[in-house]
Amino acid sequence: ITSRVTKPMDTTQLKDIRNIILVSSGKGGVGKSTVASNLAITLAADGAKVGLIDADIYGPSVPTMFDLVGAKPSARETEDGKTLILPIEKYGIKLLSLGFFADPDQPVPWRGPMASNAIKQLFNDADWGELDYLIVDLPPGTGDIHITVTQSFPIAGAVIVTTPQQVALADTRKGLAMFKMPSINIPVLGVIENMAYFTPEELPDNKYYIFGKDGGKELAKSFSVPFLGEIPILQSITAGGDSGVPVALDRTNKIAVSFAEIAGRVA
Ligand code: ADP
Repeated sequence: ITSRVTKPMDTTQLKDIRNIILVSSGKGGVGKSTVASNLAITLAADGAKVGLIDADIYGPSVPTMFDLVGAKPSARETEDGKTLILPIEKYGIKLLSLGFFADPDQPVPWRGPMASNAIKQLFNDADWGELDYLIVDLPPGTGDIHITVTQSFPIAGAVIVTTPQQVALADTRKGLAMFKMPSINIPVLGVIENMAYFTPEELPDNKYYIFGKDGGKELAKSFSVPFLGEIPILQSITAGGDSGVPVALDRTNKIAVSFAEIAGRVA
């Protein structure tokens, strides 16, 4: 797997990471962490070396989605006396979440600069080693963390997650436009439409577009970026996230196949 990034990496800790891929959304709750987790699992299952940073500082979900609530990463000293955080490994993925460093029941009332420094540490002060992909689950919106991450690290591209409602699409449009701003200028790898439709179990051939149809597809078209695919609303996706066993772990599952197709378009 080769790197798409043309600018040289200047951060020594990241020199062996081939592709840093951001997963972003305009709004919270659209399934950004679900997509980031399942994509990471799919890429790892296909043999890639994968890391996942949960940079959603105000609502880190990765500890829950990987059944690691309360887990604490350990650290090691390097020969030159630097302390490196050791990412926690689960399902073949190296994971770091700001949630590992905070009390899960307490809010994190950080101002922008503190949050930005914390995020930088997850990149620079961790023992990532060699990775084909480092997936970054960003907070929703277009805030300090986005600016820090996009300006401090060589990013291969961003994947945008949206749901089909107009209120979600309006914010996604802004989120997507941010990556295209000259000061940020990060390739948009494409749009994923999550919660695209609902299919009742007793009517497996029926698709109900309860949040509207094709909003993500049209958004991708209007920005001339690829449409990566749609994910339906499924109870197994919620259950997998809540129980720390994301759906993509079961490759016989139909939805795992959808994630594999999307991962193939991203990789
Ligand atoms: P975000 O990271 O955008 O805030 P999450 O990935 O945390 O969103 O998802 C919010 C909630 O919706 C979680 O409980 C998750 O399991 C659930 N969810 C996400 N996508 C789907 C889907 N396609 N079908 C069913 N539930 C979903």
